[in-house]
Amino acid sequence: MESPRSAETHSGGRSAPKRNCYCGSLDREHLRQQGIPEGFCGICERCGNPGHTQHFPGPVPYTGAWCDRCVKIVAMTWYLKNPMVWMALGIGIVVAMAFVRR
Ligand SMILES: [Zn+2]
Ligand SMILES: [Zn+2]
Repeated sequence: MESPRSAETHSGGRSAPKRNCYCGSLDREHLRQQGIPEGFCGICERCGNPGHTQHFPGPVPYTGAWCDRCVKIVAMTWYLKNPMVWMALGIGIVVAMAFVRR
């Protein structure tokens, strides 16, 4: 007896890593109307390739769509574009310098 599997009939065969995207929750027909191919749930904001709609990979309450490649880039670079991070970093350096000079 084989254990019943849920509809995991995506092309590839290899079980995909768990991604907190909207593949399961967005309506397939709705996605198709937006030109998003099977197996994806969004269009990448950076490069325009098919990707996945998911939460921003940083401490920002934002949801966007990125492909697997760009989501890594976004996850690595979001803080470089955040002035608050630079300010905190600057304050941190000043505080550290003050301690070192003592
Ligand atoms: Zn998805
Ligand atoms: Zn992309």
